[in-house]
Amino acid sequence: MPLFSKKHDARVTAKYNLKEVLGKGAFSEVVKAEEKATGTEVAIKIIDKKSLKGKEEALQNEIAVLQKVNHPNVVRLFELYDDKNRLSVMELVTGGELFDRIISKGSYTEKDASSLIRQVLEALEYLHSLGIVHRDLKPENLLYFSPSDDSKIMVSDFGLSKMQDDEQMDQLGTACGTPGYVAPEVLRRKPYGKAVDVWSVGVISYILLCGYPPFYSENDSELFKQIMKGEYEFDSPYWDNISDSAKDFISHLMELDPKKRYDCEQALTHPWIAADKARDVNIHESVSAQMRKSAAKLKWKKAMLVAAAIKMMQISSQEHKHQETQEQEQQDSASAAP
Ligand code: ATP
Repeated sequence: MPLFSKKHDARVTAKYNLKEVLGKGAFSEVVKAEEKATGTEVAIKIIDKKSLKGKEEALQNEIAVLQKVNHPNVVRLFELYDDKNRLSVMELVTGGELFDRIISKGSYTEKDASSLIRQVLEALEYLHSLGIVHRDLKPENLLYFSPSDDSKIMVSDFGLSKMQDDEQMDQLGTACGTPGYVAPEVLRRKPYGKAVDVWSVGVISYILLCGYPPFYSENDSELFKQIMKGEYEFDSPYWDNISDSAKDFISHLMELDPKKRYDCEQALTHPWIAADKARDVNIHESVSAQMRKSAAKLKWKKAMLVAAAIKMMQISSQEHKHQETQEQEQQDSASAAP
């Protein structure tokens, strides 16, 4: 059942023609739309308000900052509507998700991975300079700008993700289905900041070079333990042909202590990014084979989480209706009283 309802969001349907669904998250869906007046195509993310309980005012304060964001590697946020659902109108990008593209490529090298990560770090350095922490950086939020072979990569979904209801995340056991990218200090419930994004870039870099995640368990609490201990390895044979420079880069990003962890500026000057240290050897076959396997596992897990989220919302909406009926009955009996 789509989250979007014409009845609830008439201001949006007055301005935009809504088209196909582009993707779904645990509490959201993204649809393609066309601005009626100009014909400009945009993407509209529809977030179920129930996932934002208590965080609504905070967003109002931040929206002014988010709308100022303007960087070649960051998806622009044009408008925000707050009604039954929250709708953010964004720049539409058409090149698809990061891993899907890598899997379908013919050739892929460390140099390609280094160039992708450089763009992501530049976007983050910019966001961090504005005081914006992404907090939910993951491959699904890295989208190609266009289908062309030399398309740039874009960071999407910044800023808004941190408005999610922490309690609801706990109930689902994960930060919206993607605990694998979350920094250890977040799981430890310690105060955290920009460094969490750099950790996630470390995890994404790791996957880009071998095709599978550094931490994995079917069981979330086991997965959390692995992350909190920072337990990962450069396993043989998958990492045998990867440069020492790449491994050194990843170790500085996936550094357990956020104070010792590289910041974006340091990461951008690491030789794997800034000098010619990334190897030019085709690693497509092994990486894409592993990526296919991991993507299948993660998609299955995400589907389960989306189903759990829908169930939770149905229960909470039934409770809400029940409460409304009770209130109405009380009012009716009060007004019927002599
Ligand atoms: P969550 O917010 O629950 O973490 P998510 O990040 O997994 O969810 P969404 O942000 O809802 O997912 O996006 C779902 C999918 O919609 C993306 O993976 C992408 O394929 C597509 N999408 C998101 N933003 C855009 C955009 N600006 N242009 C084109 N497609 C987009």
